[in-house]
Amino acid sequence: MNIQNDSNLRETRIILHVDMDHFFSAVEERENSSLKGKPVVVGADPKEGTGRGVVSTCNYQARYYGIHSGMPISKAWKLCPTALYLPPNFTLYTHISKEIMNILRKQAVIFQQWGIDEAFLDVSNKVNEYKEAKILALNIKNEIFWNVNLTCSIGIGPNKLIAKIASDYKKPNGLTIVKPDETRQFLSPLPVHKLLYVGKKTEEKLNTLGINTIGDLANFDSSLLEDRFGIAGKNMYRMAHGIDDSKVQERHRVESISNNKTFEEDTSDINLILDTLDSLSSRVYNRLVKNSLKFKTVTVRLRYENFETHTYSKTLTFKTGSLLELTKTTQKLLRNNLHHDRKMRLVGVKVSNLSATKRQETLIKNWRGSYGK
Ligand SMILES: [Mg+2]
Repeated sequence: MNIQNDSNLRETRIILHVDMDHFFSAVEERENSSLKGKPVVVGADPKEGTGRGVVSTCNYQARYYGIHSGMPISKAWKLCPTALYLPPNFTLYTHISKEIMNILRKQAVIFQQWGIDEAFLDVSNKVNEYKEAKILALNIKNEIFWNVNLTCSIGIGPNKLIAKIASDYKKPNGLTIVKPDETRQFLSPLPVHKLLYVGKKTEEKLNTLGINTIGDLANFDSSLLEDRFGIAGKNMYRMAHGIDDSKVQERHRVESISNNKTFEEDTSDINLILDTLDSLSSRVYNRLVKNSLKFKTVTVRLRYENFETHTYSKTLTFKTGSLLELTKTTQKLLRNNLHHDRKMRLVGVKVSNLSATKRQETLIKNWRGSYGK
């Protein structure tokens, strides 16, 4: 594989990776100034060293004691029992995350949120060279600080991989620029776990082959890596050479989930209508589960034989992910509003006012843990 030639063609992009500094604990410090200067650990309840669960984030004072994200909370307690242990306040973090993402979204034509406190910006069409990208990055840092009073670190590089590793290079409040012709030199001395998807187990295996740094990996025989790790070996080899073709792409948020059913024949059979409504509710429910979402607003849509269409909504006083709650609400909306004198042509069920379930919050936490942010 002739990697050098390939990469020369590719690397004409300028990508920024923006990563908030120890986000959860930084937010807690912002909210409560008495925490400043003290070790702060956000995560599971330590229960005086007997608690289960892990550290979500900790500030730099806590890291001084050897505490890091993803570590069992009981171990953190042993390292520093006098640290301030706080439960995560996801509602607040999500709210601030939205403010930050709105600032970032305005700065780039192509934007991709990556977890709760990180984003990629493709600014290739906005700036001509790395010097301009640096000015843009400094402006972004200022704007975030002015608006939400938090610091971030930014990496600039020819692709997402380099930009992400660069943002982690100098923290907190760092700015690291890696130009295309500097990628080899930049990556070479770094430990292999700095590459995305190279976890502890893979790192150990690589170490036994005498591969410790990304430079070692880049100089290793690519076919041996492929024999040993399959497609992952091929990918690692490409990453070690600084190659990453993946695009910056925004994933759109799910605003609502709905499902409609047109009857084969217009009907006034209440049992058929109710059965259809229930089956629509369970389809909507399945998609909620798939996306780890809960809902607050339920809407039922009724279309009669003359195409007259009505929608009826109910916003619950709480967010829920319960199928029972969904079917109860849709049935009630139908029963209270049904015109018995006309035949039904179509029924529909929609949920909106969506938010992440605990499971998704756990995924965010685990995700953060596994990447050591
Ligand atoms: Mg971060």
